[in-house]
Amino acid sequence: MRIGVLALQGAFAEHAARLSSLGAETFEIRKAADLDGRFDGLVIPGGESTTMTKLLHDLGLFEILRERISGGLPVMGTCAGLIVLARRVEGGVPCLATMDITAVRNAYGRQLGSFETVAPFAGVGEVPMTFIRAPCVRDPGEGVAVLAEVDGRIVAVREGNQLALAFHPELDADTRIHEFFLAMVAGN
Ligand code: GLN
Repeated sequence: MRIGVLALQGAFAEHAARLSSLGAETFEIRKAADLDGRFDGLVIPGGESTTMTKLLHDLGLFEILRERISGGLPVMGTCAGLIVLARRVEGGVPCLATMDITAVRNAYGRQLGSFETVAPFAGVGEVPMTFIRAPCVRDPGEGVAVLAEVDGRIVAVREGNQLALAFHPELDADTRIHEFFLAMVAGN
C-alpha cells in the first residue's frame, strides 16, 4: 500500500512514521508532480486549516486532490485535515468540501482547546484522543457515520472513503486508528 501524506505544514511526519511502522509505504505531497505516481490513500494532517487551504490553492494541489477524493480515493483528515474536508465550516471557509459535515473550528475555545481523553471509537474500542485547538463536527449528512463522540460533541466521522477525526491519533502510542484507516484502504 502506498499512502501520500500532505506535507505542506503541520503534523505530517508523525503520520508518515506511524504508517511506515504499520508496513505501508509513504511519500510526502508538497507539489502537484508528487501526485504523478500511483497511490492508494491520502492523509491530510493537523496544522492550521487556513494556511493549508491557501497552500493547496497556491501549489496547484486543490483540484487534483478534490477530484481524487471525489473519485473514491481513501482519505484520513485529522484536526485541520477534518476542516479541509468539510463541506461547511463554522468560523472559516470550506476548502475541499468533499464531506457532508459542518466543521466547527476551535470548538473547545482557543485557550482550553487542548486536552487528552479516552473514548469509544466504533469498531475499534476505547482509544486515547489528543485534542489540540480542535474542531468538532455538526450536522453530519445522511451518508455520514458518527464513529466517536466526546462530551456530546462529534469527534470522528466516516463517509464512504473519507475518515475525519477531530483529534490527533498520530501523537498517541496507540496504533489502532491508523490500522483502521489502512483497513479502509485495503478494502477499497
Ligand atoms: N485550530 C486549527 C485550525 O482551525 C486546527 C488545529 C489542529 O489541527 N491541531 O485549523
